Amino acid sequence: MEELKLLKRLYEQRFLGYRYFNDIKSTPFSSSDLKDMPHGLNELQSYISDCSLCNLSKSAKRVVFGEGNPNADVMFVGEAPGELEDGLGRVFIGRAGETLDRIIQNVLLMRREDVYIANIVKCRPPQNRIPTDEEVNSCKPFLLKQIEIVKPKIIIALGETSYSYLTGDMDSSISKVRGEFISFGSSKLMPTFHPAYLLRNPSVKREVFSDMLKVKAIL
Ligand code: URA
Repeated sequence: MEELKLLKRLYEQRFLGYRYFNDIKSTPFSSSDLKDMPHGLNELQSYISDCSLCNLSKSAKRVVFGEGNPNADVMFVGEAPGELEDGLGRVFIGRAGETLDRIIQNVLLMRREDVYIANIVKCRPPQNRIPTDEEVNSCKPFLLKQIEIVKPKIIIALGETSYSYLTGDMDSSISKVRGEFISFGSSKLMPTFHPAYLLRNPSVKREVFSDMLKVKAIL
């Protein structure tokens, strides 16, 4: 937590015009950092609502925290908010979100309000680029805290960025790892294709359908 505060102060100073000889490098957080964060979703949301830990805070309109059932059995983790999400402060509300809604309703036979949905980073990267290691390192503790609070039975990692940063496996492609459960703390993690990828490649619908049936089978 001390590290978090220090990092925040350094970023604030940089924002005020102080310059450093080297870039500030954020380091992965430890479990003690999670203990010091608020233990409720609403409190956590307020806690990070004016976060400026990484550069994304300079271009994003708002922190897009995540939403859904605080006791959900299923939690989806995407990559990052897009333009619509940044504008309205809600996760997965664009075309990819509509696809995700259809997966939830038609395959899991649940409602969007029954599950919890969040992203690897909570601020929109410019031009929707993939978030950098540093941006993820700054933001991931908040996602881990959300997972700790919601305690989902199953986490569905949507796409390679989500899978890689959740598991630390930076080498495997999503097409290789999808469809098989992995242990993730007390949850099981299922990697599958991102809904935006599904929109661009409708032929992978069958794979996503089969991955979600495996999820449905153990709920
Ligand atoms: N894509 C994501 O990964 N997350 C969103 O919230 C929207 C689109």
